[in-house]
Amino acid sequence: MNHMKHTVLFFFVILLLLSACNRQNHQDFSGDRAYQFLQTLLAFGPRVPGAESHEKAATFIKNNLAGNGWSVASQDFQFDQTPLQNIVATKGNSDTLILIGTHYDSRAVADQDNQLENQDDPVLGANDGGSGTAVLLELSRVLEIPENVEVWLVFFDGEDQGKLNGWTWSIGADYFVQQLQRAPSKVLIIDMIGDEDLNVYMEKNSTASLVEEVWNIAKDMDYQTAIIPEYKYAMIDDHLPFINVGYPAALLIDFDYPYWHTVEDTIEHVSAKSLQIIGNILVKWVSEQ
Ligand SMILES: [Zn+2]
Repeated sequence: MNHMKHTVLFFFVILLLLSACNRQNHQDFSGDRAYQFLQTLLAFGPRVPGAESHEKAATFIKNNLAGNGWSVASQDFQFDQTPLQNIVATKGNSDTLILIGTHYDSRAVADQDNQLENQDDPVLGANDGGSGTAVLLELSRVLEIPENVEVWLVFFDGEDQGKLNGWTWSIGADYFVQQLQRAPSKVLIIDMIGDEDLNVYMEKNSTASLVEEVWNIAKDMDYQTAIIPEYKYAMIDDHLPFINVGYPAALLIDFDYPYWHTVEDTIEHVSAKSLQIIGNILVKWVSEQ
């Protein structure tokens, strides 16, 4: 009998240990880790297409995605003789494809800066290009893929050079959609979501049903002060090429950012808390597909 008790106790302890291990396997999205990804990314310098710092950023993104167990492909192309590169990470295997995207390039010139002497300098893009990239990298670390979906994380190049030397906006997303062999069932694009004073309004070009889906999640999570249930801006961004060919797509953006396209789009204006909010919403959104 005594021996029996010990055996039962032994198995009970093993079970406890196993469940503890399991819990450790499931990791939550960390805004602090996303912020650390952003610090590393920004240390390479502005991610202007054609620059060495841009190339280094692309390598950093691909290495992290592969390290987190994603299949990674780069889609190389040129615009105006400048090499561009979309990065596509895929996980899961299903006919239902959902896509989460961001741009990672930063603007070649700070043409919205108040100081004339700054207007030829490149934008570091801590929030614009950097914040979305940081969130998707942290997401790639923690995201669990439901059995019924396949998830693609896409890092678009050439979003942010519009109206410079004949360049247009969303060149990378345009090219990606042209090459796309499969119809995604839903596309979410995030851009400029790191502002410490986060105000993400519903965006007017987005697919309304998808907006409703995301904003309902935000409401359930009590994020209404940051993810505001009102329409405000109509944006040109990487969701448009998808919408133009009929794929449901929505954009999460906080366009009330005073440092937009200035040399002051730096990490001091980005908060881990804002990255956390967006990460939590994306994790929940994927889990509900
Ligand atoms: Zn921009």
